[in-house]
Amino acid sequence: MERARIRINGIVQGVGFRPFIHRLVSEHGLNGMIRNSSSGVEIELDGERAEIEKLVEEIPQKAPVIAVIRELKTEYGLPCAGYTGFTITESKRESERNTLISPDLCICDDCLRELFTPGDRRWHYPFINCTNCGPRFTIVRDVPYDRKNTSMVKFPMCPDCEREYRDILDRRYHAQPNACHVCGPRVLFYNAEGELCAEGDEAFRRVQDLLAAGGIAAIKGLGGIHLACKADDPRCAVSLRKRKQRDEKPFAVMCRDVESVRRYCELSAEEEAVLTSARRPIVLLKKKREKAEQLRHLSENNMLGVMLPYTPLHYLLFEHTDDMLVMTSANLSETPIISGNEEALERLKGIADGFLLHDRDIVTKCDDSLCAVVEGEISFCRRSRGYVPYPVIFSGLSHSILACGAEQKATACLTKGENAFLCQHIGDLKNAETYRHYLKQIRHFERMFDITPEAVVCDLHPDYLSTEAAEMFSEEESLPLIRVQHHHAHMAACMADNGLSGEVIGLVWDGTGLGEDGTIWGGECLAGGYEGFRRLGSIRPIPLIGGDQAVTEIERIAFALLREAGCGTRNISHAEQYEKLLAGRMACPLSSGMGRLFDGAAAILGIKKVAGYEGQGAVLLEAAADENETGLLPFELKNENGLLLFDWRETVRSLFKAAEDGTDTGIPAARFMNTLMEMAVRQCEAVREQTKLQRVVLSGGCFQNLYILRRLPKKLEKAGFEVYRHRQTACNDEGLALGQAAIAEAGWRNYVSGSAVKTD
Ligand code: ZN
Ligand code: ZN
Ligand code: FE
Repeated sequence: MERARIRINGIVQGVGFRPFIHRLVSEHGLNGMIRNSSSGVEIELDGERAEIEKLVEEIPQKAPVIAVIRELKTEYGLPCAGYTGFTITESKRESERNTLISPDLCICDDCLRELFTPGDRRWHYPFINCTNCGPRFTIVRDVPYDRKNTSMVKFPMCPDCEREYRDILDRRYHAQPNACHVCGPRVLFYNAEGELCAEGDEAFRRVQDLLAAGGIAAIKGLGGIHLACKADDPRCAVSLRKRKQRDEKPFAVMCRDVESVRRYCELSAEEEAVLTSARRPIVLLKKKREKAEQLRHLSENNMLGVMLPYTPLHYLLFEHTDDMLVMTSANLSETPIISGNEEALERLKGIADGFLLHDRDIVTKCDDSLCAVVEGEISFCRRSRGYVPYPVIFSGLSHSILACGAEQKATACLTKGENAFLCQHIGDLKNAETYRHYLKQIRHFERMFDITPEAVVCDLHPDYLSTEAAEMFSEEESLPLIRVQHHHAHMAACMADNGLSGEVIGLVWDGTGLGEDGTIWGGECLAGGYEGFRRLGSIRPIPLIGGDQAVTEIERIAFALLREAGCGTRNISHAEQYEKLLAGRMACPLSSGMGRLFDGAAAILGIKKVAGYEGQGAVLLEAAADENETGLLPFELKNENGLLLFDWRETVRSLFKAAEDGTDTGIPAARFMNTLMEMAVRQCEAVREQTKLQRVVLSGGCFQNLYILRRLPKKLEKAGFEVYRHRQTACNDEGLALGQAAIAEAGWRNYVSGSAVKTD
């Protein structure tokens, strides 16, 4: 007989971990105790070594689904403490501040069964939850994570709920949002005029009738309100687009179940696993060929963003509804998702024909996460609900840093020890409301995770509002401000995401970012690490006629490309105006942004002339590409003063010729992307020659392109490279803040305490 001490770190508090250990210890007939510690839980057990070892082995295998075990350490051979039975020792208040808060998770199987069991005391209760499931991050006002610090505080538990909450062996032991029909939140239906019309089951009937009749409903979920309508009826979607002023961006849908998803989309086993996971993101799936045309009103390309119901409310909604609904975030022109009842009734007036709301407040807005599944692994476009606020763990971090991210897809990252807490999807800071939301989230994260930043990091771009925010924080709190080049941050983000150190080759392809030379970069091949980088490859700069206007009116880019390549421009509208601007080099900043090259190619091929949203040219070019085409277009790689430039003029001439010949766009679109990949491999080979580096990280928004993401890593691997892409964070600007933080940390001595190289 001996005593063992087991220490477990991770998300192990507020997830039913102690009752789980209690059951496990009873099964093994051991004695001991468990208590929460500052970084997790601590268990002590008296017993035979072999029995304890068996138990320890079972912990990760049988742990509650939402628990995350980061570290499990066992010390054996201590003298017996003489425990009798098993006790759960109350935790000390002050230490709880250091623990992690779980993301919101979908309803678990046990709760789902109860939800649909007539006679169960929670039958049809839309807010059923337990320690294994339900709202977390979105209802927390403050730490420690206790009911009194959540929006559940206004619902005192009834005796039955209270009993469950106190019973260590109950599934609802310390489930902070525990509630039932008697004591908990209620669902409410309001009509178009904002009048309360029904509650409970009747509220569901009203909204189901409304949807069946082709109406648009506002539906309050976990992190905000969705606008919903029948998905298979183009008229509904068209009317929603009109009312929401969302002309071209794709709509996400919610399907009743996996069978329903299969009716509309191809679904691999890996995609199914992500789709049905407790995190329930929107997964980009390929439309079934025979359904593609029928679903065009939802998305103009061949992909559809699909999610499954994730709250009991959604499950009840689908009990008597079509098997697929449009579910799009309720917001207006780049403002944050609407989350409050009053706000919804007021601002969605004239948009929604009815409102399915409830009286549990959403404390923190959180949009649905959006991802694709590539080679069995997630590739995020938006990392938000279900993932935030779980940190990215990177051992290269140690100080407390506030990294302010970029502007258009803004997020912030706060670090503490090796934890990097990236906040949820925020949006475009140019919208004043979004900017306020962003500042508020930074404060909220500081408070939740007890972080007092020692330094602030921002992008090199002086005009980003995230830079302005960083300057303000730095000034107010007298903190050093570190400015990091955009593509360096992208590269570092992908490195930190993969836990890399040392030096790598960074292929960073995005739309735009300020370079160290004051021009716009974005088709970069870098070499370096967190401490610094060298720009060794790029693409021939493209004149952006009219600056930012060219980002929307992508025909301007087509014009510039064609002119530089010496091709005719007679098919381009406003050619004379562009000619004048270009000739005078007036308002024509140069950009090496890969995103712009995609835009230009799309416009040359006649796929799109004016983009409805940023990156639309690339999205449609990808959609047009023939998956089986392996051919290339001609191109040149030129060494200009040590910079290996992709000269696209030959490529553009070929695209032009294909467009003139009226070739099906599928072939040239595919060849264009194949060419970029070939160019990338050659650039990397040249850099490897020079630097002996053989690890390549892929970052930047262009790698949301699945045609490229599914092929380029293989091509690089074939050429002998080790390839890394973003796995835990988005490759676009949403992941940027992580890289900024990692760079600040690596240069800490220089930036903060030493010779102040880049400090203001
Ligand atoms: Zn549950
Ligand atoms: Zn109750
Ligand atoms: Fe970027």
